[in-house]
Amino acid sequence: MRIGIDLGGTKIELAAIDDAGKFVLRRRRATPAGDYGATVESVGALVDEAERELAIRATVGVAMPGALSLVDGLVRNANSTCLNGRALRQDLERRLGRPVRLANDANCFALSEALDGAARGVEVVFGVILGTGVGGGLVVLRRVCPGANAIAGEWGHNALPSPQPADLPLPACYCGRRGCVETYLSGPGLAADHAKLAGDRLPAEEIVARAQAGDDVCNATLARYEERLARALAAVINIVDPHAIVLGGGLSNVARLYENVPKLWGRHVFSDAVRTVLLPPAHGDSSGVRGAAFLWDPGEQPAGAGGGVTLREIDENNIDLVGELRVTGEQRFHVASLAKSFWQVNGREGFHSHAIYAGGVPVGYILLRDRPGEVYLNRLLVDFRHQGRGYGRAGLTLAIDKARATPGCNRMSLSYVPANASAARLYESLGFRHTGAVDEDGEREMVLEFEPRRNPT
Ligand SMILES: [Zn+2]
Repeated sequence: MRIGIDLGGTKIELAAIDDAGKFVLRRRRATPAGDYGATVESVGALVDEAERELAIRATVGVAMPGALSLVDGLVRNANSTCLNGRALRQDLERRLGRPVRLANDANCFALSEALDGAARGVEVVFGVILGTGVGGGLVVLRRVCPGANAIAGEWGHNALPSPQPADLPLPACYCGRRGCVETYLSGPGLAADHAKLAGDRLPAEEIVARAQAGDDVCNATLARYEERLARALAAVINIVDPHAIVLGGGLSNVARLYENVPKLWGRHVFSDAVRTVLLPPAHGDSSGVRGAAFLWDPGEQPAGAGGGVTLREIDENNIDLVGELRVTGEQRFHVASLAKSFWQVNGREGFHSHAIYAGGVPVGYILLRDRPGEVYLNRLLVDFRHQGRGYGRAGLTLAIDKARATPGCNRMSLSYVPANASAARLYESLGFRHTGAVDEDGEREMVLEFEPRRNPT
């Protein structure tokens, strides 16, 4: 069973979805606006209630506004501002006692529509939110692409391409830029454009309703909206070239967009024919909970019920569960190494394990062992998704700091480590003389001796 949570600014919605994708239970409650602690507790209470009622333990995915920073793991860019700067993932995991997956709500929308919605079976899907804000998410081959900066699909704060006289002056955006796509294509953006050119302050829904009733002025406002949407989406098509674009959010209910916008975007797309289709959503408001639940695959087990902790999800709360890791692809090496580490540690004194953090996110692991006069670096692992970014060095530095703080220790030894000249320079830069040696197993081993002036003893 998979539980999806849609953590919105006004409501928190929960759905329990079975392996066939059917809703088994749905609940919602008002978001304790502006109260972070109460928000985490509300999510926890909703999950508790659902699991008690269904007598299950489920995986939990959360659709959230904004994203988790890759720098420090904290929430950023959320319009529910009480979440910003908070360790939401860790706090939810602590409250729920299991790993929790979080994704931006637009990514969850795109995933929901790509897996079994309007764009079912489509290879590259761009999901668009046209609501109080403008966002987007990219799904390729049924997987969310978060991107190198966790902002894939965030086209709302690109500048509107090829501004026309009616687009000027460029509206100021809350993000600090001018002329952002969101300032034209969000609901408030549509209303502001109407007020500027028609001199009439109406909410977006009213403009749409009046246009449908034959009001020429409102029709002209919607025509400007369509033309801008075509320009903005053409820029996306030129870069991502999706097979389908699915609209979501309040303005996705405007039926004429699906007919008119594809007629307009061809002029701006660098292709003789545009095969990309523009689709209305199949699941509407349910996309948040559905996409959140689908962050876990059917049958994937939560930790504590048979496995499911990946190295990236390890922290001090769940490190005991690592022995139940699900082995996939590139993780095999890590799993074997971790398994060996835990086998070595089992029931023995003098071993110490520590997580290597990228901000708040654990990305690696070191295992140290006390030996007479030295500390042995038994294992240094970095999650493959974070390799090549300096976390190996961070792990080594962490190990050295722990060794230096160990009474009576005057050197550290390592095995399975590079012993070439470049690695030697690294070790020297960290304050060591190094000697190559071979240990009793015949494995190449490196001994790092503390320089006398930095010897803590
Ligand atoms: Zn902006």
